[in-house]
Amino acid sequence: MTTENLLDLVSEHVEAFGVGFLLLLGWVNVRSRKKHHKVAEKKLQKAIDTQMGEPLTLHPEVDPGLCAGCAACTRVCPEGDILKIINHRAVLVSPTKCVGHGECEQACPTNAISLVFGTKTRGMDIPRITSDYETNVPGLYIAGELGGMGLIRNAVKQGRLAADHALAHLPKDGAGAAVDTDLLVVGGGPAGLAAALAAIEAKRRYILIEQNSFGGTVFNFPRQKIVMTKPAELPVVGQMRFKQDKVTKEELLAFWDEARRKSGLQVREKVKFETVEKKNGVFEVKTSQGLIRAHKVILALGVRGSPRRLGLPNEDLPKVTYNLLEPEQYQGRDVAVVGGGNAGVEAAQYLGKPSLGNRVTLLVRGAGFDRCNEENQKIIRDMESRGEVKIWYQSSVAEIHPDRIQVKRESGVESLANDYLFVFAGAEMPHKMLMGFGIQIEKKFGTGLGK
Ligand SMILES: Cc1cc2nc3c(=O)[nH]c(=O)nc-3n(C[C@H](O)[C@H](O)[C@H](O)COP(=O)(O)OP(=O)(O)OC[C@H]3O[C@@H](n4cnc5c(N)ncnc54)[C@H](O)[C@@H]3O)c2cc1C
Repeated sequence: MTTENLLDLVSEHVEAFGVGFLLLLGWVNVRSRKKHHKVAEKKLQKAIDTQMGEPLTLHPEVDPGLCAGCAACTRVCPEGDILKIINHRAVLVSPTKCVGHGECEQACPTNAISLVFGTKTRGMDIPRITSDYETNVPGLYIAGELGGMGLIRNAVKQGRLAADHALAHLPKDGAGAAVDTDLLVVGGGPAGLAAALAAIEAKRRYILIEQNSFGGTVFNFPRQKIVMTKPAELPVVGQMRFKQDKVTKEELLAFWDEARRKSGLQVREKVKFETVEKKNGVFEVKTSQGLIRAHKVILALGVRGSPRRLGLPNEDLPKVTYNLLEPEQYQGRDVAVVGGGNAGVEAAQYLGKPSLGNRVTLLVRGAGFDRCNEENQKIIRDMESRGEVKIWYQSSVAEIHPDRIQVKRESGVESLANDYLFVFAGAEMPHKMLMGFGIQIEKKFGTGLGK
C-alpha cells in the first residue's frame, strides 16, 4: 500500500468516525431534551393538581407564535425553575413562585414574552394606573408595590418615572393656588426615595413623609437578611449595584443613607398620611402633623402596613407578630412560623439557628413549598434533616392560646407548645382606602400596565 492509499484510508475512517460522533451527540441531545420536557410537564401538572396553576402577581406571558424554544428565558430567573421548555415552547411551570423579576422578558431574543397581571381565567385587582404611574385622578400617582408589582428595583424605577412625569406636568409658573410643595411623596421606601431624588434632580420643591423610619419594608427585614436586587438607577446618586446582585439589609440601608447624605434629601419621619383630596386643582393631604397642599402627590406606601391576619380569636396577644426584626431576641423558645413563602421560610431559618436553641415549627398550608424559591427550600429542608426545624405540611393554626396553639393537620388537631407565633401570610392590598380617594381598582385578565 502506498503512502497515498494509507492516508486515504485513514481519512475515510476519520470521516466515518466524525459522522458517527455527531450522530451520537445529536441522539444524546434529543434524549436529554425529552427527559427535561417530561420533568417540566410533571412540574406543571403538579402545579395544576394542587391549585397552584395560577400566578399571583406580575408574570410572563409567552406568545407561542413568537417563542423559538431557545430556552434563554429559562436560564435567567433568579427564583429558579419557573419557566421550562415543553414541546419547543417556554411554559410557566411554577406560576405561584414567580415574583415578576422580568429577567425572562429581557432575555427573550424574539420578544415572545410580555409581563402581565392576572390570567384569562383569574383576574387580579390592581389600581388603575397608566404606564407613567398616574392614576385616574390626574396628578395623583401610585409607585412601587402598592401598584401590584413587588421588588426593590421595580419600586426605584417606578418612583423615578412617576416623579419625572408629575414634575413635567406642573402648572405653568404662577398658575394655580398657593401650595406648600410641588410634589408630595408618601412613603420612605425605595419608590419614595427614588421619587424624592428625582425632584432634587429636577430642582423642584418636594416633601417626603414617612410614618415610621426611612428605608421602607427593607428597614423591617431581619438583621443581616440577604437581599437580592438587580442594578437600578437612582436619580442624583447614580447606579445602585451590588456584587452578584446580593447585599445585606444593613449594607443596602447604608447605601440609601449615603444617597440621602450626598443629595441632601430631607425625610419627615413619624408623619402619617391620612387622606388626600383634590380641591380647585390642588391636593390637600391630611397627615398626623397637619395639612400639606401640593400640586402633585405620589403614593409609595407599599403594602406591608396591613399584613394578612389569620382572623382567629386571641390574635392580638403580644406573642403574635407579623415581622421578624431581631432573631437573636428569641432564644430557647417554642416558636411557630406560619407561611411557606420566602418570608416565612426565611424567618424559620433565622429562628431555627442552633445557636439560638429555639424549637421551631414551620406551618405550611400546602403539601410542599409552592411560593418559595429553590435556594430557600433547600436551606430549610437541610435544616429539617439536621433536626433544626420541624416542617408541618398541610397544616393551619386553628386556635391561639397564651402558652400553646392548636394546629389542624391531615391527621387531626394537634396541640403545640408556643411562646411566639410569627405569621407571614402576605398582605392585604389597601384598595378600599384608595377607592375612597377616587382611585379606580380594575381587574386585569392577562394585561400589562396601562393597557
Ligand atoms: C420578607 C421580604 C423579603 C423581601 N425580599 C426582597 C428581595 O430580596 N429583593 C427585592 O427586590 N424585594 C424583596 N422584597 C420586596 C421589597 O421589599 C418590596 O417590593 C419593596 O420594598 C417595595 O418598595 P416600596 O417603596 O413600594 O414600598 P415599601 O418598601 O414597603 O415602603 C413603603 C413605606 O411607606 C410607608 N407608609 C405606609 N403607609 C404610610 C402612611 N399612611 N403614611 C406615611 N408612610 C406610610 C411605610 O412605613 C414604608 O416605609 C421582600 C419583601 C419581604 C416582605
